[in-house]
Amino acid sequence: MEILANYINGELIPPHSSNYLDDINPVIAEKFAEIPLSDEEDLRLAIASAEKAFPAWSGLSTKERADYLMKISNLIKDNLEELAVAESTDTGKPLQLAKTVDIPRAASNMEFFAHAITQFSSESHAGKDSINYTLRKPLGVVACISPWNLPLYLFTWKIAPALAAGNCVIAKPSEITPYTAYLFSKICMEAGLPNGVLNILHGTGPEIGNAIVQDKKIKAISFTGGTATGRKIAKISAPLFRKVSLELGGKNPALVFADCDLEKTVDGLVRASFTNQGEICLCASRIYIEESIYEDFKNRFVEKVKALKVGNPSKQANNMGALVSAQHLEKVKSYIDLAKKEGGNLLCGDEDIELDEETKNGYFLRPHVFENLPNQCSTNQEEIFGPVVSLNVFNDEKEAIALANESEYGLASTIWTNDLSRAHRIGNQIETGIVWINCWMNRDLRTPFGGMKNSGLGREGGLEALRFFTEPKNICIQY
Ligand code: NAD
Repeated sequence: MEILANYINGELIPPHSSNYLDDINPVIAEKFAEIPLSDEEDLRLAIASAEKAFPAWSGLSTKERADYLMKISNLIKDNLEELAVAESTDTGKPLQLAKTVDIPRAASNMEFFAHAITQFSSESHAGKDSINYTLRKPLGVVACISPWNLPLYLFTWKIAPALAAGNCVIAKPSEITPYTAYLFSKICMEAGLPNGVLNILHGTGPEIGNAIVQDKKIKAISFTGGTATGRKIAKISAPLFRKVSLELGGKNPALVFADCDLEKTVDGLVRASFTNQGEICLCASRIYIEESIYEDFKNRFVEKVKALKVGNPSKQANNMGALVSAQHLEKVKSYIDLAKKEGGNLLCGDEDIELDEETKNGYFLRPHVFENLPNQCSTNQEEIFGPVVSLNVFNDEKEAIALANESEYGLASTIWTNDLSRAHRIGNQIETGIVWINCWMNRDLRTPFGGMKNSGLGREGGLEALRFFTEPKNICIQY
């Protein structure tokens, strides 16, 4: 069993407290590693090393910083197998998904921002008697805090632009899935990343997470996680006038019109609903279907969902693995009970799961599909973040938009139609930061990524991330 360590000033070191937390493998419900419980003393060391590293790191040319990011990207690719196994073990997600999505995307994040920073330019404004130009300076020491569902994928999505822009970073992975962040520390050491440029602290949100957020030396926070945590971070950061980027929860609507390609739509929505056990902030969870095709869609959808195989995530035949923790499994099950109390009709989900001897205690749950739930009920309004979706009916486009927008969240939506004008019309009116038409999770890393309403503040991705991690300074010269 491995005992993980913090990564501070270029070294792997134990926590000041000497206390550890269990890291549980959700597939077999057993401990497989121990995680440092960091405290303010670890943070003090990490910030001191980041501050010391900042002048030299920010003084490198963009090409020199990009070269470090490319080395890290290549090492992620070289270690793909080990990283994918660790990610699957820690989260319960299918190994195949970790191999084809999570880990390759972590490598792409480093590569993308290595290229982006060398192409990043600022504006100049020429006037009658003067010219203004804008410098984009790194902020200093910044924090990146990430969740458990796409561990290395989201961790690197924040760290890469922060480092590329010339900042030094204090990063905290989720205490529920810390393992690939630990392996990432080793990769950074192998890449020769200068000491203190990146520091990775392990531990819980209320302890080390909160200590990071409270520290006035942290100039900006890029956070991905739950809306309640985001609200706490915003509240602490507001009086400090500190930059925050908040990527929060979602309750994503899917609108299915009678003119869609039904076969492709059903396949697309099975994937959108249940990839990664439904534990992706972008997963569809409220599906609205035009009345004339409701029964047809429902029958085809439920048939395909019933055919999904749930079980040992290291077996390629299984489409879904285990949920991330016993606590999360209980939370999702409590929503299933609530959906029944709210009048929901369960169309599938209570079938037995065939588990082998090794995985019989794991946190597995079959995908659940409900119908007959009012739009205002908790099942249709609150984020469940697991394999549970509801099917709902609409009669016309106006009603579909109103139902989709009746939500406190506004992260992502999908629209399924072959009417081009309708697609554009709804794309314009739907209140989500990301709209996918006839597809889901089709990602171009150059695009702005983030949510409206309670789904967040600010945008990640491409130039948005590089702008977030820099401070603009305007210089005016009179001719
Ligand atoms: P969470 O908010 O509990 O934790 C996220 C991170 O914040 C963890 O590292 C945690 O330790 C830390 N944290 C917790 N309390 C803290 C505090 N008081 N101060 C500082 N840090 C603290 O979220 P989670 O359960 O890990 O992740 C699931 C949530 O993340 C879901 O709501 C999901 O929708 C959201 N999410 C959003 C996106 C997006 O891009 N919008 C992507 C993935 C996940």
